[in-house]
Amino acid sequence: MDIVASIKDLRRSLRGQSLNLRTGLVPTMGALHEGHLSLIAAAKQQASRVAATIFINPTQFAPGEDLDSYPRPLEADLEALEQAGCDVVFVPENTTMYPAGEVTRVRVPGPLSETLEGEHRPQFFEGVTTVVTKLLASAQADVAVFGEKDFQQLQVIRRMTADLLLGTEIVGAPTIRSADGLALSSRNAYLSPEERVKAPALHAALEQARNAIAQGEIPTVATDQAVDAIRQAGFGRVDYLAYRAASDLSAPTAALPAGQGRILAAAWLGQTRLIDNISA
Ligand code: AMP
Repeated sequence: MDIVASIKDLRRSLRGQSLNLRTGLVPTMGALHEGHLSLIAAAKQQASRVAATIFINPTQFAPGEDLDSYPRPLEADLEALEQAGCDVVFVPENTTMYPAGEVTRVRVPGPLSETLEGEHRPQFFEGVTTVVTKLLASAQADVAVFGEKDFQQLQVIRRMTADLLLGTEIVGAPTIRSADGLALSSRNAYLSPEERVKAPALHAALEQARNAIAQGEIPTVATDQAVDAIRQAGFGRVDYLAYRAASDLSAPTAALPAGQGRILAAAWLGQTRLIDNISA
């Protein structure tokens, strides 16, 4: 008889699973790029079997957002995952993830999910936490890898997974960028050639703010200067560009020790909304 104290060991014991067989999960919405593939590589370092999921989750899109136009290059995605050494790809139908009559939602209340992205996309995190709960519960993976590109999402998922005892270790992986600094994103495909030239200004402005704060500038002054810089580079609306505590995304009254802060931004370039963040 096994006597176990952790969710992980309970799960493995019930399955008769060897303790050195670790399973990994990488949830995605497809239209894969090197950023996604770096998550597969990170998962392969942590686990002996790795599954990717490709599911464009309707509940995280608001009406008028890009659910219908979101790119869906499934064949190329499967090819890229095979090349990356992924063992399983889960490509569920909408009716698998949201069976007839479904009503249940998972919500992480409080500032962590209600600020920044949560303020500008009010249904986004509830959609994300609902689908990620379903994916983690379905896959029962020991580890799941998410990108720091979506830093707030990563922190919300960490909170949710801990709160719900889902038993999956959440690992964050660094943002993969083009040589000019632009964070890779499936939505970069929406940028016109002219916009693509302007887009790296977002990352440059985050670095400018980080450097200013490191040199003693008041954080809100530094972030205001960064907003000016991206506007001058041709960005339109800036949804937010803010300096926050990395751990819980609360707004510090003064600069934190280097590495404990995060500067996060979302801004529009034409019809495309770009998000990015860096450690500060
Ligand atoms: P998505 O397909 O946009 O839902 O993203 C799936 C996963 O890939 C999420 O965990 C993202 O944070 C991650 N991701 C997206 N872009 C990047 C990037 N440039 N570098 C690292 N991870 C990324």
